[in-house]
Amino acid sequence: MTEKARLNAILDREWTLLIGGRARPAASGRTQEDESPVTGEVIATVPDGDAEDVDVAVQAALPAAAAWRAVPARERGAVVAGLAGILARHADELALLDAIDGGHPVTGMHADIDIAVDTLRLFGGLAIELAGRTIPATAENLHLTVREPFGVVGRIIPFNHPVMFAAAKIAAPLVAGNAVILKPPEVAPLSALRLGELFAGALPEGLLSIVAGGPGAGRAIARHPAIRRIGFIGSDATGRAIQRAAAEVCVKDVTLELGGKNALIAMADADPEQVAESAVAGMNFVKSAGQSCGSTSRLLLHESIADDVIQRTAAHMEAIRVGSPLEPGTEMGTLATRAQYDKTMRYLAIGRDEGAGLVTGGGRPAGLESAPGLYVAPTLFRDVDSGGRLAREEVFGPVLSAMTWKTEEEAVRLANAVDFGLTAAVWTPDINRAFRVAGALEAGFVWINGSARHFTGVPFGGVKLSGIGREESLDELLSYTQLKTLNVMLG
Ligand code: NAD
Repeated sequence: MTEKARLNAILDREWTLLIGGRARPAASGRTQEDESPVTGEVIATVPDGDAEDVDVAVQAALPAAAAWRAVPARERGAVVAGLAGILARHADELALLDAIDGGHPVTGMHADIDIAVDTLRLFGGLAIELAGRTIPATAENLHLTVREPFGVVGRIIPFNHPVMFAAAKIAAPLVAGNAVILKPPEVAPLSALRLGELFAGALPEGLLSIVAGGPGAGRAIARHPAIRRIGFIGSDATGRAIQRAAAEVCVKDVTLELGGKNALIAMADADPEQVAESAVAGMNFVKSAGQSCGSTSRLLLHESIADDVIQRTAAHMEAIRVGSPLEPGTEMGTLATRAQYDKTMRYLAIGRDEGAGLVTGGGRPAGLESAPGLYVAPTLFRDVDSGGRLAREEVFGPVLSAMTWKTEEEAVRLANAVDFGLTAAVWTPDINRAFRVAGALEAGFVWINGSARHFTGVPFGGVKLSGIGREESLDELLSYTQLKTLNVMLG
């Protein structure tokens, strides 16, 4: 079958929400048109869920959660680990959906699915770690804690890793004994809706609902009084709106995985070629076109190696294969939405206006000038004004800003001089220096002589405007439980 025929086969269908274990249209009957950033064409008509759908999902989730928490933890873990096999078996279809719907390269989406498979298995296996502890507070009594689920959890996710987030982010709350209501991004909802169909038969009815829709559906999750725990991934503005909305209704436990303007610091003694390769990997041009919260979008170079590193970085960036995300050989596809494309273009203009030197990129890629897709060339600016907007604001696109410094103190000051604090990287063979600098950085996730990679089981999350909470680890699993303390009076 040709690629086009395969695409037609997976797109030629009706799309439904998954609510209470059943496929349904939105209660309001409303739909929204889903446009591909690759072709510019409408590829699907998707139910536009809202507060009513969220409420129906919650009403189904409450009894499902009550029954699910009574299932032994390791059995819950086995069910969730079992989802990994379903996901892996449908990887081709799901990766293709994300490619056409989100503009992400199909090969990269396969890698994302591998990560989600690994994550489902990780959390499935961690079920036995849902343990409390005993506290020797008195000699005569027994004081112990047990971990209980919240009940119904809301999960709201962004567009940059659609199927990976949809699959991986339901794992911890489910294993912890909760029901989950997942709201996929309105600009790339298809893979999550398909996943809902695939997972429905493997989970008790009502335990998982997928409510596609716009911000209204997200707001309804934030405001629903029976949803006491929300895990959000997206922008800081939306994260704060969710905190505000939730607080108006009741007291909720809200964790936030937000944006970043992350620094990669290269010391004078770092190897310029390794730094250049790491700078390019750290930007996540490949797979995400830079649309990644953890991207090290500020390259802070000691002045003695700056010219060399910049030259090498530009050469690697120019070698990235940009093109149709549907082609297996493509490394970088389109931006995910027209808004994201326009925003990136605005920042290219801001960089020029602020006096930064354009080293490579700066517009549409050569050969794709008039293609319908939302393509932007990997772009490197140097001598970026550290006080300017390009240096401080998250672009969430393929734009890397290089700056230089003279002293270690200056490097740390520059790195910390933004409102965000998600990731950071330090390059130096001097391990004492590496630890000293890493210790001084305001970031939740730091690489020493590395960048870009996440490691399943290792906590990921930010400080400052980058959020609260840690995911991808035991910390995430435990965050979907609340402690109950029991005091057994034996005296
Ligand atoms: P966004 O905040 O616009 O949207 C994210 C989700 O929130 C979408 O599903 C959206 O429909 C929903 N939403 C929008 N308004 C809402 C509201 N008022 N109440 C409830 N839900 C609402 O973010 P985006 O543009 O889709 O994603 C890009 C952002 O996500 C970037 O800032 C990026 O850094 C961040 N991000 C962070 C991580 C991380 O792990 N820290 C990972 C990926 C992306």
